[in-house]
Amino acid sequence: MNIHEFQGKSILSQHGVRVQRGIIASTVEEAVKAAKDLNSQTGTNWFVIKAQVHAGGRGKGGGVKLAKNYDEVASLSSQILGMQLVTPQTSAEGKTVHQVLIAEDVYYPGESETSEFYMSVLLDRSQGRNMIMYSTEGGMDIETVAEQTPHLIFSESVDPMVGLLPFQARRIAFNLGLSGTAFKEMTQFVTALYQAYVQSDASLFEINPVLKTSDNKIMAVDAKVSLDDNALFRHKDFLEMRDTREENPIEVEAKEVGLNYVDLDGNVGCMVNGAGLAMATMDLIKQAGGEPANFLDVGGTADAARVETAFRIILKDPSVKAILINIFGGIVRCDRVAQGVVDAYKNLGDAIKIPIIVRLQGTNADIAKQLIDNSGLDVQSAVEFQEAADKVQAVLA
Ligand code: GDP
Ligand code: MN
Repeated sequence: MNIHEFQGKSILSQHGVRVQRGIIASTVEEAVKAAKDLNSQTGTNWFVIKAQVHAGGRGKGGGVKLAKNYDEVASLSSQILGMQLVTPQTSAEGKTVHQVLIAEDVYYPGESETSEFYMSVLLDRSQGRNMIMYSTEGGMDIETVAEQTPHLIFSESVDPMVGLLPFQARRIAFNLGLSGTAFKEMTQFVTALYQAYVQSDASLFEINPVLKTSDNKIMAVDAKVSLDDNALFRHKDFLEMRDTREENPIEVEAKEVGLNYVDLDGNVGCMVNGAGLAMATMDLIKQAGGEPANFLDVGGTADAARVETAFRIILKDPSVKAILINIFGGIVRCDRVAQGVVDAYKNLGDAIKIPIIVRLQGTNADIAKQLIDNSGLDVQSAVEFQEAADKVQAVLA
């Protein structure tokens, strides 16, 4: 699960990571009030208005603006709230901005220069360890840094059983070229950041930029956080951070009914049991010259009700031009699935206007094939993988 910058910052702050302070607002009035409250809390007179959407690169898309008084807070907030924000990480339509974070300006002038760093904590699956990735090149996207100046990206591998050791925190601060107060601040920052990552069961904490202020404080100016869905049961307070407006509506609905559904760009809807078979089916569709419109694993119990639910979900995607049902009857008998397909088809009536190809293999596959063939519906059966692929190709032609 991904969360917003302001939510990520609140988790960080609870773990003692210094963050750029801010207050969330959904209307222009709230934005101005937030700025005034922030002024009384921090004394800041300049504010940054930051669009809250689940995508990076907001600055580039006009979603991060500096305001130097309350009138500017009002006018910039009214520009950003409700806008379709297009960034290098969104689709061409962009994302609707429902909330803005009114944050203190932390790039104020002072005795020394400000510097921006990059830092992320993530899981290194190949090593079975956590990893802290960091760079002196903050503020720009890390992919570009990786491409152009890979030697400026460092990493520190952390044994999850031992945790981040003090010498590692010092090495990080040293490699970032810090000294004095800023060095000490950085070791505290990275230690607290690592704690926040571990204790939240996160899969990613990406802070870009980490700022060294002109008075040598180290703080998180941005926060991109992904939480592990499988650990959410341990964090009831995180559940309310979910913003379904940021998620694909069909995926949200599929999740509610317990289907593993991932929306894709293609034209062939897939209904499959088992993730491995679902992957193989997607390959098959590609080979047949189509593009999968979704990944859908109906799971072990592919009964009539589930098949019908899966149909309803797949049909919500208007780009679907054909549906391929590929089910292996191991625990579930093929004839029951076939009956499910026939019943669902009848129940959905006019909703299905596209060809359906069904491949059922396993227990009672022959009875299942007869059921489909004798149903009189616009459903074609296939026995072999290749046959199914050919039939998909034929209906798309
Ligand atoms: P992103 O574009 O989605 O990654 O959003 P960020 O939160 O990283 O903000 C984008 C950029 O806005 C940062 O890299 C900073 O350069 C700038 N920025 C953020 N906060 C401040 C601030 O307090 N003052 C000023 N002047 N610039 C800021
Ligand atoms: Mn950023």
